[in-house]
Amino acid sequence: MKSITLNNPIKFDGIGLHTGVKTQITLKPAPINSGIFFNRVDKSVIIPAKWDRVISTKFSTNLASNETEVKTVEHLLSALSGLHINNCEILIDNVEVPILDGSSSVFVDKIMKNGLTEQDSEQKILEIIKPVKFSCDYGFAELSPNSSEDEGLNINLESSFDGKYEDQDIEIRNLNGNYIDSISKARTFGFFQEIEYLKSQNLIKGGSLDNAIVIKDKKPLNKDGLRYENELMRHKVLDVVGDLYLSGFPIIGKYNGFKTGHFITINLIKELFKSKDNYKIHKFN
Ligand SMILES: [Zn+2]
Repeated sequence: MKSITLNNPIKFDGIGLHTGVKTQITLKPAPINSGIFFNRVDKSVIIPAKWDRVISTKFSTNLASNETEVKTVEHLLSALSGLHINNCEILIDNVEVPILDGSSSVFVDKIMKNGLTEQDSEQKILEIIKPVKFSCDYGFAELSPNSSEDEGLNINLESSFDGKYEDQDIEIRNLNGNYIDSISKARTFGFFQEIEYLKSQNLIKGGSLDNAIVIKDKKPLNKDGLRYENELMRHKVLDVVGDLYLSGFPIIGKYNGFKTGHFITINLIKELFKSKDNYKIHKFN
């Protein structure tokens, strides 16, 4: 597969989920071999969208170069990964990527309308060769090689919502081609009884029923209900796709996780890069 960038710059305006600050971002076409990177235009600082720039994972994935941060990058990176865009400059004039409707579909729809350009270079992919795992006290995730009948990235997630919601699992076989319809519309979510705690942590200042599903007594408070019956699990897949793109490559392999979140996926990427025996980087064909 060829490298892909945007046809033209695209602007998005909105507020950040956690900081509530109003931010404008502009996705710009970028040359071959640029990768995905943020440009904090208010500070003149470049922040590559790479796992070694992650500085925190509490309720969102946050990157930094020196002291300059860009927060809540996961949904935008998920959209870029889902659309196979591997060269893109993201101009951002404040600290947090806008949450928009809480999913990645606003990014996806506008990018698709604007159109994509193939570049004269083959895209590199990262293929998992040896299983790697990261576990913590509440959950785990592992990356393993695809079995012979599988292609692309395959994701299996199991969740336990500790009585706050029905436990669910989800299996997405070969994300390629499935992303736009099955994943991109799934919104972020929270539990009603945790809202006060999150506010006390100075989080979700921009959160509302316009950009998040809020679950109370195992049901959504949003008046139009859910977009998919298992929207929460699909959003977890959306987050995994976004966080995995911080590896710097599309991944070929199987991701299997229980109670995953940003902390687990970012630590799994760190495990992956501990040994070159774990993966092979080659051209997509
Ligand atoms: Zn999310």
